[in-house]
Amino acid sequence: MRSRSTVVIGGGIIGLSVAWELTRRGHGVTVLEKETDWAAHQTGHNSNVVHAGLYYKPGSFKARMSVAGNQSIVEFAKDNGVPVEVCGKLVVATSEAELPALGVLAERAEANGVPAKLIGADEAREYEPEVACVRALRVESTGIIDFPAVCRALVRLLEEAGADLRLGTPARGIRAGALGGVEVATGSEVLRADSLVNCAGLQSDRVARLAGLTPRARIVPFRGEYYELRPDRRHLVRGLIYPVPDPSLPFLGVHLTRMLDGSVHAGPNAVLALRREGYRWSDISVGDLAEVARFGGAWRLARKYAYPIGLDEVRRSFSKRRFAASLAKLVPAVGPDDIVRHGSGVRAQALLPDGSMVDDFLIESAPNQVHVLNAPSPAATSALEIAKYVATEVEAS
Ligand SMILES: Cc1cc2nc3c(=O)[nH]c(=O)nc-3n(C[C@H](O)[C@H](O)[C@H](O)COP(=O)(O)OP(=O)(O)OC[C@H]3O[C@@H](n4cnc5c(N)ncnc54)[C@H](O)[C@@H]3O)c2cc1C
Repeated sequence: MRSRSTVVIGGGIIGLSVAWELTRRGHGVTVLEKETDWAAHQTGHNSNVVHAGLYYKPGSFKARMSVAGNQSIVEFAKDNGVPVEVCGKLVVATSEAELPALGVLAERAEANGVPAKLIGADEAREYEPEVACVRALRVESTGIIDFPAVCRALVRLLEEAGADLRLGTPARGIRAGALGGVEVATGSEVLRADSLVNCAGLQSDRVARLAGLTPRARIVPFRGEYYELRPDRRHLVRGLIYPVPDPSLPFLGVHLTRMLDGSVHAGPNAVLALRREGYRWSDISVGDLAEVARFGGAWRLARKYAYPIGLDEVRRSFSKRRFAASLAKLVPAVGPDDIVRHGSGVRAQALLPDGSMVDDFLIESAPNQVHVLNAPSPAATSALEIAKYVATEVEAS
């Protein structure tokens, strides 16, 4: 029997995981990545944290896939020589006012089946001697990993299995095939396959439109900027220290994360990126900005968050002192002289016309097509689980 063929657009962790899952199921797979290397965007510019799954609404894709993904990505890493360490983390309430939200988080962890325990300040300081806290949630299953190395391992497995992997190959046109299936134009040739999977991250809504869909949600790019602790101040943080998140915001708040190489990253904040793949304020795309400006959802979002939250984020982006002050809420010994800039990443966040951010992962199917339209954090943690779901959708499409 002829094996089914699939073109996967996007060589980040989701595209490569989908390609690997389909390959394991006997599909012939072609992966198209427009950049000259794998994991060039979100996957290569993130916090490298294997999330435990405590934040997400019980029963949601995010909750189910991150809890399962927490196990499967660690197992995959161990089986394939990828560096990983399950070191646990602390979520710290730094004032009495944050205790109710910390309690809600503990309940959510329990509902999602994530082992977590509320501890007092003294016990928290046994984990993190420098932390400021009145109470904390200790989560054991959070880990640190090297997501680009996960991608390299997936590429190796795919190559060994004979998959067709193409770097520097953007998908430029998509249409239904004359004899069924799909045709994908790359500029230099037209590829024919039974099905298509869109894992284009920051470009996923555009790729969906290229394929004839009219997705309701648009991608709005939010940059997250990082600092790192100077080497002689790394001792201030032993593991991962997170604030109690504001439930009305989709991001977790700036946190301190020890990386596998012993460095300690601080961030990310969240500011609107002026280009979809814009890693600095000077990266500006008039076209991308015009698209945001034409989208009513962006204006509704701005009305809700621009003042004071958005403005404060922009101020903090330009002020090391403000950034350090946010970190000092968690670890008071951290000052502006202790941190140096350390790159940034851009989140692909799907936004609805009513100005609300799509909270859960969003995956839509059409005949012979599956589109991953919202895969923000914790999608890297959940990649192998998202891939199983997408592969089943491909087989059903
Ligand atoms: C600052 C930040 C911190 C984060 N921290 C964490 C974390 O600690 N833990 C966690 O689990 N998640 C985290 N995330 C989320 C995680 O990084 C993403 O959910 C995940 O990387 C999404 O993977 P992806 O493959 O969908 O997207 P991407 O990695 O962005 O890959 C999409 C790919 O598609 C390619 N592409 C686009 N258009 C085309 C086209 N037309 N043709 C061919 N190729 C195309 C792009 O070049 C890109 O390489 C973080 C994200 C950010 C930005």
